[in-house]
Amino acid sequence: MRLLLVEDEKKVASHIKRGLGQEGYAVDVINDGGEAVSMAMTYAYDLIILDVMLPGKDGIQVLKELRDNKNDTPVIFLTAKNTTEEKITGLDLGADDYLTKPFEFEELCARIRAILRRHESTKETKLTIAELDLDPVTHEVRRGGHRIDLTPKEYALLEYLLYNKGKVLTRTMIVEHVWDQDFDSFTNVVDVYVNHLRSKIDQPFGEKLLHTVRGFGYVLREQDAADKD
Ligand code: CA
Repeated sequence: MRLLLVEDEKKVASHIKRGLGQEGYAVDVINDGGEAVSMAMTYAYDLIILDVMLPGKDGIQVLKELRDNKNDTPVIFLTAKNTTEEKITGLDLGADDYLTKPFEFEELCARIRAILRRHESTKETKLTIAELDLDPVTHEVRRGGHRIDLTPKEYALLEYLLYNKGKVLTRTMIVEHVWDQDFDSFTNVVDVYVNHLRSKIDQPFGEKLLHTVRGFGYVLREQDAADKD
């Protein structure tokens, strides 16, 4: 999943980006409110972490502009002080959650997972298809009880496919949700990673879950849920 982090304190921003990267998220960092609006309107982020006190436009203004422009990307607000007023304003404007600084990194992760789950309207913490499951808390992936070891990017790709199981995803969609803005879109990296992932989640198990839809992209689905390839 791809996240936008809007935070002007460089140290805090790089600390959060590094931590979220280790959790398998692709993260773009912006430290100016005005730029944040245009980034959020340009890329299909799965979630935005938005500091309130920012140069350019403050977080409240950024959120208001996004919602006014019918952008409903989930937003977690970061408020500096324990000011009830800021929280109420943020939630009324359509923020999905807030955290008061300073916060534990683990709590931010838990809130991100809760929102991504809510967005998919499921209370189930594990993401599953057939006998394959991924646990976003422990990062364990298993198929038929067998533990599968994935690299962080393979994991991120599988997580995105699982959140969207049954839907055909184009290479562009995959790139936008799994890689950050430094990604070179002229390479065939998506196909390469799909092949890596297949060799781990499909090949040893017989039944194929990750299908190519010629001319469109890829879909994760059970074989009997649609016509055979
Ligand atoms: Ca700030």
